[in-house]
Amino acid sequence: MMTTLYEGAFAKLNLTLDVLGKRPDGYHDLKSVMQTVSIRDDVEIDIGTGKPWTLECSMEGIPTDERNLAWKAAEVYCEQIGKNPDGISIRITKRIPSGAGMGGGSADAAAVLRALNRHYGEPLSILALAELGARIGSDVPFCTLGGTAMVEGRGERLRRLPDMPDCVFVVCKPEFSVSTAELYQKIDQVAIPKRPDHQAMETALLSGDLSRVAENIWNVFDPVVTAEHLELNYIKSIFNTYGSLNQQMTGSGSACFAILDSFEYAAVVCNMLKENYSQIFIAKPV
Ligand code: ATP
Repeated sequence: MMTTLYEGAFAKLNLTLDVLGKRPDGYHDLKSVMQTVSIRDDVEIDIGTGKPWTLECSMEGIPTDERNLAWKAAEVYCEQIGKNPDGISIRITKRIPSGAGMGGGSADAAAVLRALNRHYGEPLSILALAELGARIGSDVPFCTLGGTAMVEGRGERLRRLPDMPDCVFVVCKPEFSVSTAELYQKIDQVAIPKRPDHQAMETALLSGDLSRVAENIWNVFDPVVTAEHLELNYIKSIFNTYGSLNQQMTGSGSACFAILDSFEYAAVVCNMLKENYSQIFIAKPV
């Protein structure tokens, strides 16, 4: 019998991001405080279709075969628990912008892992599910867990942190995208002048003080990308002028976010940006 599963896939923002060095396997060790936000894709899964696997995505340019991270997640999950789902069809309604540093593909993969695990009666704990996610992509473990967390290694080491204090995010995705691989190459060649203070960020989260959390956001990729795309300075200056407590790029870009304590100011910021940008979002931490 065919069953349909529904799951929300939430975008992430990097409140902090530090690159600690290159590992012998060529990947980089990271340290990042990540936060899921209320910008979401909707994932629907028909399971037991009795037909070959299919995937549909509402956004053009996203692969609709086994290269899609949601498809990969379904394969990895079924293999791990030794089940044959007898045909899977996945439909993704996409709202998370692509190439934004918001973990859109990883969020979809994590949603598939959670939905299938629920369908099969939760044979894997959330931490086991996150560990499985590391086989799909480095942001998948965090997206599986969600909330506020310290993420280390290649993304596989997770530690829950106190929830982000209540606030409003405005996220703006400019037209350009950044090649993540090239960005890592670049960061290997430059001295990193400033790194996030993770101790201070943890203390700020523990105290629930939004201004101190905002003061301590820092992404080592931000100055590297901003140097080549001065447009990011324009977006950040609009954020700053209209009440943002602080602002920066997320992940490897190109989306930038502002942290505000008022929805009214967030609405004004959106208004100021909408003439030049089509991808602007207001979000809350989730
Ligand atoms: P990250 O913060 O993880 O670097 P990103 O915003 O840079 O995320 P994604 O939106 O996850 O990037 O997409 C990156 C690439 O992954 C896309 O070019 C796309 O081809 C591929 N991809 C595979 N599966 C998906 C999916 N379900 N949704 C979006 N992109 C996907």
